Amino acid sequence: DGIPELDARISVCRACPRLVAWRETVAVEGRRASFADQPYWGRPGPSFGDPDAEVLVVGLAPAANGTNRTGRMFTGDRSGDWLYAALHRGGYASRPTSVSSGDGQVLRGLRIVAAVRCAPPENKPTTEEKATCAAWLDRDLELSEGRLRSMLALGSIAWDAAIGAARRRGWQVPTPKPRFGHGAEAVLTTASGRRVRLVGSYHVSQQNTFTGKLTEAMLDEVIGRL
Ligand code: SF4
Repeated sequence: DGIPELDARISVCRACPRLVAWRETVAVEGRRASFADQPYWGRPGPSFGDPDAEVLVVGLAPAANGTNRTGRMFTGDRSGDWLYAALHRGGYASRPTSVSSGDGQVLRGLRIVAAVRCAPPENKPTTEEKATCAAWLDRDLELSEGRLRSMLALGSIAWDAAIGAARRRGWQVPTPKPRFGHGAEAVLTTASGRRVRLVGSYHVSQQNTFTGKLTEAMLDEVIGRL
């Protein structure tokens, strides 16, 4: 099977009881007032983008009123506004915004995945939830590695998830383990000898973008390295 089949399987996963309960509770009772008239997706977030991508963006996890509402990665929240605007400036996204499925957004050469596919309370998945969801990222890497050129990890959890998946796939990872930081970079080598550049970026969350910890110029610079 390929990426569409993988995404279909992810979208019905119920492996983490706490996250299943949270995503569904938010979708029914916990909707933000401004979205109260909208149906929520309330399921895991499948990947979004080009199935033949040479670049993967690895996020942390869906936002309760973002992906968990719209069903599309980084769509319908402030984090996504930042990310898609930057991907548009970088030539990967057809539009500078991602509002909902059906808005015409198309990613070329790039696909967005996440360390954890269900919205976690307070954006904090547990160690066990991260380990459980890692199986999906492993499969994403397996299906992509034949043409993969680079990966952008948004935040340290995504960085660790990417390195963990690479190791389980039998890729060579430098030792000691490369440390996350904004602008950090490591070269990973797939089992077939393909070199994949892993680039770190502070996450596009409001916590970083509102405070100026992550600026547009900083994000453009790391995207330019992909
Ligand atoms: Fe399944 Fe991942 Fe969601 Fe857990 S977080 S229920 S493994 S999709």
